[in-house]
Amino acid sequence: MQTRLLPPGPENLELGRQFLLQDLPVAFPTETVYGLGADARSEQGVRAVFEAKGRPADNPLIVHLADPGQIGECAEWTPLGRTLARALMPGPVTLVLRKKPTVSPAVTAGLDTVGLRVPDHPVAHAFLQCCGFPVAAPSANTSSRPSPTTAEAVLEDLKGRIPLILDGGPCRVGIESSVIDVTGDRPVILRPGRVTAEDLAAFAEAETYELRPGESPRSPGLKYRHYAPACEAVLVRPERRELLEEAVRQAMQEGKRVSVLARPGFYAGEAPLFSLGQTVDDMARLLFFSLRAAEKESDLLFVEAPEDSGFGRAVLNRMRKACGGREL
Ligand code: AMP
Ligand code: MG
Repeated sequence: MQTRLLPPGPENLELGRQFLLQDLPVAFPTETVYGLGADARSEQGVRAVFEAKGRPADNPLIVHLADPGQIGECAEWTPLGRTLARALMPGPVTLVLRKKPTVSPAVTAGLDTVGLRVPDHPVAHAFLQCCGFPVAAPSANTSSRPSPTTAEAVLEDLKGRIPLILDGGPCRVGIESSVIDVTGDRPVILRPGRVTAEDLAAFAEAETYELRPGESPRSPGLKYRHYAPACEAVLVRPERRELLEEAVRQAMQEGKRVSVLARPGFYAGEAPLFSLGQTVDDMARLLFFSLRAAEKESDLLFVEAPEDSGFGRAVLNRMRKACGGREL
């Protein structure tokens, strides 16, 4: 299959809609990462997304809508869900509610809940509005790889597997949405993201869900290997920073090609530096982009961890998974 990378003009949005109606997956930009869309009403369309990504069938997709007003077509509102939707949508957040039968069970991997998101991105909004139906979309990467934050990163993973990538330039947030269960009285953060527990405190005290070993997860995606670059990666916490130069030197002596992903000032040795910008927001925006750039010329990456608070917690969550739990 030929994969076209096209600008998001009205005629290409319409082309994308036609592909979705033929059950062919289309990649589109959002403010978090690029998504790989299917018509959420079509089991066959949804299957094609799982197939293109190599995604395990029990890992549910998030349903994307142009407007929060469409949520009632897909799910049962709760008072907490309404409050948070009013305050946070459109935005980098997914709300989990009890699903209605309109949503194909293939989307939710058989769960009785569905994750719903209204992206805050002009191209995503225009595309979803052009479609008019709910679009189920996971991140547009090969399963287990770093999420794509540019159209080129989507092409790298899915060339020949999908017909169309709508190019909206680099993503603003850079890591996936916060996934928040709002079926009860208290929000439960299933996956951390740009919308933090501190942000939710204005509405209700949030609980952060942690997957315990041996337990079956409330958010199935949590159990899978995720965000991993093609080479080995090691996390470096701020308090372990002084060990970095020696660790780099040693790995280089062993003949490894070593790179460092960090903010300026964190590392000043001879290994190539891939920038993570200045702020925690920069780190999120550049993390997957820099992992994909660095893996091409490295055998080993050292990755600077942010402070474990606020939005830093979400960035750290992705880095830990990208490093497979390895720390200096
Ligand atoms: P991705 O689209 O790759 O960012 O993955 C979406 C993630 O959202 C999944 O891996 C799940 O962890 C989570 N998710 C989606 N739908 C639900 C749901 N109904 N209940 C709990 N978690 C969900
Ligand atoms: Mg993903």
